[in-house]
Amino acid sequence: MNVVDLIERKRDGGVLSDDEIAWLIRSYTAEVVTDYQMAAMAMAVFIRGLDPNELAAWTSAMMHSGEVLDFSHIDAPKVDKHSTGGVGDKVSIPLVPMVAACGVAIPMISGRGLGHTGGTLDKLESIPGFRTQLTPPEFAAVLERHGLVLAGQSETLVPADRKLYALRDVSGTVPSIPLISSSIMSKKLAEGLDALVLDVKVGVGAFMQGLSDARILAETMVEIGTRHGVATVAYLTAMGAPLGREVGNASEIRESLDVLRGGGPTDLVEVTTTLGVEMLLAAGVSDDGADARHQLQRTIDSGRALELFAEVIEAQGGDPRVVEDDSLMAKADRSHTVTADRSGYLAAAHARKIGVAAMRLGAGRERKEDTIDPGVGITLDSKPGDRVAEGDPLATLRYRHPARLQEALRVLNGAFVVADEVSTEPLIIDRVAASA
Ligand code: URA
Repeated sequence: MNVVDLIERKRDGGVLSDDEIAWLIRSYTAEVVTDYQMAAMAMAVFIRGLDPNELAAWTSAMMHSGEVLDFSHIDAPKVDKHSTGGVGDKVSIPLVPMVAACGVAIPMISGRGLGHTGGTLDKLESIPGFRTQLTPPEFAAVLERHGLVLAGQSETLVPADRKLYALRDVSGTVPSIPLISSSIMSKKLAEGLDALVLDVKVGVGAFMQGLSDARILAETMVEIGTRHGVATVAYLTAMGAPLGREVGNASEIRESLDVLRGGGPTDLVEVTTTLGVEMLLAAGVSDDGADARHQLQRTIDSGRALELFAEVIEAQGGDPRVVEDDSLMAKADRSHTVTADRSGYLAAAHARKIGVAAMRLGAGRERKEDTIDPGVGITLDSKPGDRVAEGDPLATLRYRHPARLQEALRVLNGAFVVADEVSTEPLIIDRVAASA
């Protein structure tokens, strides 16, 4: 096969066969097809798209570019959840122990923060000692023993995506529905799951800002999962404002611990519970939404979800005492409060600006090699819909360096809007399941 022929065919709107796609991805992983050739192909796909057969072949070739995990020796149903990324989205942290405490095995492979969005791995690493890079045998051992594991992608899982994602990042080909859906689904399908629940974020703080694109992405991923025999359901959830009140790393672990203790902001609890219910239904441990909700609540009331979180922290090298004493995690000691310049209702807290501001404080990476400061971040003192009086606190920024604070404040310009009235948007926008 000749890669130039394949690039030209895709560029001109033609169709690639299953064998051609398998060869392309294999040759790219083996470094026979070069980065510049693959960048040209990614751009051709970005512009021309992939038809459903090509997309299935592309995803499958990516998934088989490395190890495919097999947990069939574990009796419990294996279910995972994946979010397309947002600001303040710490849902996985309380969700995983709650659902695992109901008897579902969760081999969760998470990512790092990307741009203005936070990443579960970075948040977990604010727990002293917590290791997110596990070898495949360590990953399997934690899952077998505790029924849950929270780690990063190993070197051997979907190596094609590791290369291709980095290439897309520098070639203007990230926001492509076939490329995003095959990237996410190849990694999830390589986890050896029975079912998958997707949280596709929509709004200014999300990858997909418009509802119609987000819906197509959700439908595409549901279709890929279903074709591969993994029961897949997606939710479209709002990401116009940050989820919960905390945006940062250690602070998001603190807020997650609040949820596990029965507290936490209502929007965070609602998204966590909605996805948790769907995971229990998909796993077959419940066949009724009200019962599933009840089971999840019991894991909180009994303290079992919190206990399980402490167990997994310890199993992954972290200090489990954080669940009792969250002062063991970093917290920057300088703070600055942004206040309302008039009275009214908080009409907007712009998720992207707040995410970028948190990144400027040091909670995220501007460049790949940057290190994260787990102790900095932004707390929303008011949430959209709240009544505020002039001078009331809207947000508190925790910082270490005054110059970074100034940058963050510049980014936050216009992020908070106080108006005479507000219209409330639904948090859970829609559910997308496979068509019968
Ligand atoms: N997350 C991924 O894993 N891949 C993408 O392409 C986008 C978001």
